[in-house]
Amino acid sequence: MRILHDFSYERPKSLKEALKLLEAHGAALSPLAGGTDLVVNMKMRGILQITEKAGTADARWRAARRVQPIQTPSVVMSLADLPKLRGVRKGKGLVRIGPTTTMAELAAPGALPPALAAVGDAAAIMGSALIRNRATIGGNVVNARPAADTAVALLAAGAKLRLAARSGEREVEIAAFFTGPGRSVRRADELLVLIEAPAERGQGSAYVRMGSRRQLEIALVSAGAWLEVDKPTRTIRAARISLGAVGPTPLLATKAAAGLVGRTADPEAFAAAGRTARAEVKPIDDFRGSAAYRLELVETLVQRALAAAASRAVGKGGRR
Ligand SMILES: Cc1cc2nc3c(=O)[nH]c(=O)nc-3n(C[C@H](O)[C@H](O)[C@H](O)COP(=O)(O)OP(=O)(O)OC[C@H]3O[C@@H](n4cnc5c(N)ncnc54)[C@H](O)[C@@H]3O)c2cc1C
Repeated sequence: MRILHDFSYERPKSLKEALKLLEAHGAALSPLAGGTDLVVNMKMRGILQITEKAGTADARWRAARRVQPIQTPSVVMSLADLPKLRGVRKGKGLVRIGPTTTMAELAAPGALPPALAAVGDAAAIMGSALIRNRATIGGNVVNARPAADTAVALLAAGAKLRLAARSGEREVEIAAFFTGPGRSVRRADELLVLIEAPAERGQGSAYVRMGSRRQLEIALVSAGAWLEVDKPTRTIRAARISLGAVGPTPLLATKAAAGLVGRTADPEAFAAAGRTARAEVKPIDDFRGSAAYRLELVETLVQRALAAAASRAVGKGGRR
């Protein structure tokens, strides 16, 4: 039995050509970045047919199918020949990340400033070394899973996404991008072409995740933190806290973050933020873990992420 369906393969040499193809084919076309989600997803129907026939279909695959419909694009469009979509550019007060930048590139020491260190943390723990060499940040964001590691980190970092279509470009705050598990505001004719986030001195971020295993595991709960700290007094000027796998999308714990502003960056403040974040979410029970355990993790992981973000904000070690 064949696992993959028939599809045509396009490899545009310019963004203009890519957007033209997207306009022509719409939802029937899937952009291909690293393929670590797309190819697995495209194979899912074939694998399910085989395993169901054999009576061995795995509960995880069935659950995944419910969360994200199986993709059967008639056109697969590689982004490999669009080098402008790849790489990290550090400008004044802003970092620009191309969507086809790989996790391995983002996890490299010094790739990102302290304000975006959360993204490096997330990229460094994703999948295995093989996956990190192929998987891209754009694919992780567009895939829009509630536990997508770099998506949760980018949410803490306050990133903006630039979406391009033949009809024009638009900028979307990452907090407004996700609409449900596997769903976003991206239109079928749009390509994610840029991820931007602020990066100033005195800002630091961090990302931590808990799963049943250290690697090759989807987060049971994850937390990202971003802080702007006045170095001499350690007063928190601004804060963001993001959480993964505790709701249908990556989400912000806005009350917990607001409660930190004006306080000294210390364990007491972080513990209070952890408690508030816990009260802001309603995780579900599933085969990975109970809601009660997830709430405990929210409280602990928020504290850990905040402590690491604060160290980076004041320039004390822990830099990527
Ligand atoms: C063994 C394994 C382990 C994994 N571990 C983790 C993990 O620990 N944490 C985690 O978060 N994920 C994990 N993943 C999921 C996956 O690796 C990531 O989501 C990855 O970042 C996807 O990137 P990609 O480049 O491979 O995307 P692709 O598979 O190429 O694309 C993903 C989706 O995004 C679309 N797309 C890609 N780029 C663009 C663009 N620029 N504009 C518009 N649409 C686009 C594609 O059409 C597709 O729908 C794992 C996957 C595997 C197979």
